[in-house]
Amino acid sequence: MKIIRSPASMTAWSEGLRREGLTIGFVPTMGALHEGHRSLIRKARLQCDALVVSIFVNPTQFGPREDLTKYPRSISHDRAICRKEGVDVCFEPTVEAMYPTGFQTTVTVPAIARRWEGEARPNHFAGVATVVTKLFGIVRPHQALFGQKDFQQSVVVRQLVKDLNLGIDIVVRPTVREQDGLAMSSRNVYLSPEARSRAVMLYKSLQVGAEVIRTGGRDAKTVRLAMAQVISQESTITTDYLVVCDPRTLEPVSSVNPRVVLLGAVRLGPVRLIDNLLVSVP
Ligand code: AMP
Repeated sequence: MKIIRSPASMTAWSEGLRREGLTIGFVPTMGALHEGHRSLIRKARLQCDALVVSIFVNPTQFGPREDLTKYPRSISHDRAICRKEGVDVCFEPTVEAMYPTGFQTTVTVPAIARRWEGEARPNHFAGVATVVTKLFGIVRPHQALFGQKDFQQSVVVRQLVKDLNLGIDIVVRPTVREQDGLAMSSRNVYLSPEARSRAVMLYKSLQVGAEVIRTGGRDAKTVRLAMAQVISQESTITTDYLVVCDPRTLEPVSSVNPRVVLLGAVRLGPVRLIDNLLVSVP
């Protein structure tokens, strides 16, 4: 496995493969790799001739009071996972290489980024959209894989690829969960043992919402109340949002028809968790 740090060398490597007619798969990550990342890497390995994983903790997608400096970093563990999964290149650019002096362009996807995570984390999606666009320009993949875990992010990425005619196939893969159902996340290490035991309530509430729909509930307010009721059983959990949305626009819907995404974000002390479920009307 090659470790490439310079954007120019990364592009040269990809262009060489493209000239040979080979397809390049790409999994962008912030490192601290877990089974969720691994499922994306494995899928990409099956679908493409060559596979690039980027490890870059992107400062521009963190707010001033967020965990940029504390964000878990485990580069040797991450490289070992990449090697084991047959990754060809681990792309590890520096912040200076990605944002040199004089850098000024920002990519925004305003309508999709406006609500939910966009509201809770101002500038987050501008940071994500900009770094993803840059990474696509540097790595020049044919296909890029993202997790459903970050649902709004995946919709932002699809939209920017379409709007900017980037011609990259975006694949979104299901959320990988712990045994009790908690969505895997690099940030789960922040949970105290006590908070960890309660963290599954977010997934439970989404499941209850999905069950209301499966058993005939079509009123979004009823679904929201059912989800909120689950979280309200735990006084130590506060809800940021638990909503029923159109999966393409992420706007809230009033009735469930024909396909919705249940989006949730909660706080357990200092730790914020997000999760979602896509539900189709039977
Ligand atoms: P991150 O390192 O958190 O920026 O995530 C890198 C990619 O892995 C993103 O596309 C995430 O949506 C995806 N990802 C993170 N957690 C999971 C999970 N539990 N299941 C599937 N994909 C995930």
